[in-house]
Amino acid sequence: MPFRVRYTGLISKYMDLLPISDDARVIGLGEGNTPLIRLTRIPRELGRDVDIYVKYEGLNPTGSFKDRGMTVAVTKAVDEGAKAIICASTGNTSASAAAYAARAGTTCFVLIPDGKIALGKLAQAVMHGARVIQIRGNFDDGMRLVKEVAEQSPVTIVNSINPYRLQGQKTAAFEIIEELGRAPDYHCLPVGNAGNITAHWIGYSEWAGGGDGPLTGACNFCDGRCRFASAIVDKRPRMVGYQAAGSAPFMRGGPVDDPETVATAIRIGHPQSWDQAHAVQRESDGWFDEVTDDEILAAQRMLANHEGVFCEPASAASLAGALRDIESGRIPGGSTVVCTLTGHGLKDPDTAIAQSGGAVETVDAELGAVRQAITAHL
Ligand SMILES: *Cc1c(COP(=O)(O)O)cnc(C)c1O
Repeated sequence: MPFRVRYTGLISKYMDLLPISDDARVIGLGEGNTPLIRLTRIPRELGRDVDIYVKYEGLNPTGSFKDRGMTVAVTKAVDEGAKAIICASTGNTSASAAAYAARAGTTCFVLIPDGKIALGKLAQAVMHGARVIQIRGNFDDGMRLVKEVAEQSPVTIVNSINPYRLQGQKTAAFEIIEELGRAPDYHCLPVGNAGNITAHWIGYSEWAGGGDGPLTGACNFCDGRCRFASAIVDKRPRMVGYQAAGSAPFMRGGPVDDPETVATAIRIGHPQSWDQAHAVQRESDGWFDEVTDDEILAAQRMLANHEGVFCEPASAASLAGALRDIESGRIPGGSTVVCTLTGHGLKDPDTAIAQSGGAVETVDAELGAVRQAITAHL
């Protein structure tokens, strides 16, 4: 009698493709399996014959794609007997690390930049019981300090320099291929440390079962076993990474010392996966570009307003860039495009409210006033 297996998370689904031993205690929260939503109103208004999908990673357990990497990193850390985990974070990594540490019963330290973290993310880290260390500095300072501390103390780093993080995050590419039955022509992502764009490329490459670049077949853990589905897909997408203009080291050709952007999740001037990201760009024949804060916020509003999908500002960088490249023809008509929406809009309520001018109208609690308020918009 056939039966449907309950979905319990990406480790159980992709066990054979992940570096997890069969007897490891899985630290999971049902992450992954996020919706791939086809946009309807935005492409119509754009007037271009392009299929745009958004991969809504904000629907992961802690509201960002970081959970995909964290379930693998924390499962491995616990399996290897780690006493505590630590990360530097612009917010989402700390929220995710804190939740998975809570699930594991492990101590979690997070270093966050003073004042530059979205409210929801801080609330999560605190509620999940992480030891939150706010530093008078930015993410790049935090990352440097975490590396230094981990050399001297028994703590496991769960930033994306932990290779297990990318292994977990590659599963987003698997899910997209499963849903589309093929790889998209273009895959657009916001880029901070560039771990996620690298992870997606690993995923597409493994599934494509080959290729010739250094990243392909470079899965150190599964000895090529992860080519299990090569029959389906032989083509990989062009990978396109968008940065915030005030925080765009890939566009400047080197580190940026004082990154600034409303998209705090990608406010990173010293990307940790610098070389990998350039390899992805070369191998996939993709590109990097930058989008302004105004473009980011406009795309975030448009998505929420026209499609019912609420993502955080950093996530909207992918759509902002894709829309511009579709309009200019750099992404040609007839293409299938996937934009990753990395985190949920509720993460950063302050930024949403700050740009909602005029949306809230206060009237007296009586019928005439309410009817007047409605009639004005009918
Ligand atoms: C972490 C994060 C990013 C950037 O991902 P990288 O792997 O650092 O490039 C983008 N958006 C959101 C919402 C994030 O949390």
